Amino acid sequence: MSNQEVELVIVGSGPAGYTAAVYAARAGLAPVVIAGSLTAGGALMTTTEVENFPGFVDGVQGPELMESMRAQAERFGAQIVYDDATRLDLDGDVKIIETGAGATYRARAVVLAMGSAYRKLDLPEEDRLSGHGVSWCATCDGFFFRDQEIAVVGGGDSAMEEALFLTRFASKVTVVHRRDEFRASKIMAQRVLDDPKIEVAWNSEVAAILGDEQVTGLTLRDSVTGTERRLDATGVFVAVGHDPRSDLVTGQVDTDADGYVRVAHPSTRTNLAGVFAAGDLVDHTYRQAITAAGTGCAAAQDAQHYLSNLA
Ligand code: FAD
Repeated sequence: MSNQEVELVIVGSGPAGYTAAVYAARAGLAPVVIAGSLTAGGALMTTTEVENFPGFVDGVQGPELMESMRAQAERFGAQIVYDDATRLDLDGDVKIIETGAGATYRARAVVLAMGSAYRKLDLPEEDRLSGHGVSWCATCDGFFFRDQEIAVVGGGDSAMEEALFLTRFASKVTVVHRRDEFRASKIMAQRVLDDPKIEVAWNSEVAAILGDEQVTGLTLRDSVTGTERRLDATGVFVAVGHDPRSDLVTGQVDTDADGYVRVAHPSTRTNLAGVFAAGDLVDHTYRQAITAAGTGCAAAQDAQHYLSNLA
């Protein structure tokens, strides 16, 4: 099995990982990107049109954007490994990265860019209709729902934010919440309750997402009585939280209470020398491809400075 000594390993292949790879490769570091076995390319591989990544006047398909980033990184000498990192030992001067296929990499620096996972409703049609009416990101997709009826599922601050943002586009927004009061902060909840474009479906769980090619509505189940009803909607925004993929490094690098890796802003340095982190693994707030790419760029430069100071 492969046993390589390298300057830099990047774990993750979303916009953060691939951008870090482009910069590190152009700096002559010949980075190895552990891209993931099934999920290489990151979150944008699961979407269709991306209209807010600068440089694409007419938008770009998510997978096409990620393929271009990969090809650009490879062009400058990044090595892409389609495998999962299964164990990281990040403490010492030499970082050890083991993969599912049994390879071991010894690196002088590591960029962590494993992203985060949107929590799902776990309904059969959710993945099939992703990008066809089901979304996890109002900033990304709200624009596609001009003058349409939209449902937002959730009761926390992010659901409130998504609902309020979506009123700019939608003719009506229904917030679907399984309890009879919001978990969100009072001020955010009040803004939602006061908004004339927003209705709330209290005590309501989503029993099914409806539609063949495109979302046409939801079946809502009353969480008290069990009765079901149909809600017409062409968009469903799932806002029930997200989980950073930090399990592999928990206990080694500092994380916050929600599991996001802590960095010394504005740098991408973690608490461990030679270990940098970027993208949605770090970011609760912006969570966009361009911000992930931006911090990926910063992480590569931070790693390069760190390595040149060692030399
Ligand atoms: P990710 O893209 O999540 O990539 C992380 C990568 O790390 C994944 O490939 C994952 O498999 C890999 N990984 C994790 N653990 C391991 C491991 N142990 N070993 C190897 N690899 C590992 N943003 C926009 O700006 N515009 C949009 O239009 C837009 N639309 C979106 C639509 C959808 C459906 C979704 C889900 C997100 C959308 N976003 C959009 C958000 C955007 O995709 C994310 O903000 C961005 O992808 C985060 O980049 P990242 O590199 O931090 O992480």
